[in-house]
Amino acid sequence: MTLLLPTKKQILEGYNVALNFFFPQRCQYCRCYLPPHPQQFLCGQCRSNLYENISLVCMYCGKPAPDLELPPYLCGDCRYKDRPSLWFLSAGDYEGILKKLIHKMKYERRSYIAELLGDFLIGFLQQQQFDSQYFDCIIPVPLSRVKYRDRGFNQTELIALRLARWADLPVECSVLKRKHHVHAQVELDRSERLNNLRDIFYINKKTDLTGKSVILIDDVRSTGSTIYFCAQTLFEAGAEKILGLTLAFNDR
Ligand SMILES: [Zn+2]
Ligand SMILES: [Zn+2]
Repeated sequence: MTLLLPTKKQILEGYNVALNFFFPQRCQYCRCYLPPHPQQFLCGQCRSNLYENISLVCMYCGKPAPDLELPPYLCGDCRYKDRPSLWFLSAGDYEGILKKLIHKMKYERRSYIAELLGDFLIGFLQQQQFDSQYFDCIIPVPLSRVKYRDRGFNQTELIALRLARWADLPVECSVLKRKHHVHAQVELDRSERLNNLRDIFYINKKTDLTGKSVILIDDVRSTGSTIYFCAQTLFEAGAEKILGLTLAFNDR
């Protein structure tokens, strides 16, 4: 008599059914129940609401520019200017679903949401017909060691890794480092934030970024000071052009 043992695939399926029975998959925004397969974090409605956030913008100033014809999309003001050495671009506004997902990712420590938001950022860049061949590498805005230990992951690093696969660019996670500071940025007003950020970023090893074009990734931009000070550090290491790319712009 042969004993019929379940295959590895059957065991995995059984495990998923049980998992979904006890912990059903739910939309991360509206909490509606989702079918067990495939794994997804948003329902169809919330996903389309998130992507509706995306609109065509000028590559250099980020202003809405729906009437543009050919990429790279530049508004009338930026078209005839020299390309800036540091410029900012955000995939959406810091509100609604996007805000809630970023919040969950950071403060409820849901690292898997970084994948979802990485895909959202890619969706934005695809719509912009963004050409990654003008860049040499991606650098995520770092967390301090203390913060990293506390959160368990760096969300910008996870987003950068996702983006890198799509853009076919290397991610440099150990180039830019951040010292720990006592006060969290969210507790401070604008001038205190600036002082808090000065001298907090440094280059870890003897990295030569001479002539390099860098995509610097962060989750939210409000004043832009975090990206600004990171960029100054990278410029000192030789970087020539820096795009400060964020998921969301917080225009409070
Ligand atoms: Zn939903
Ligand atoms: Zn512009």
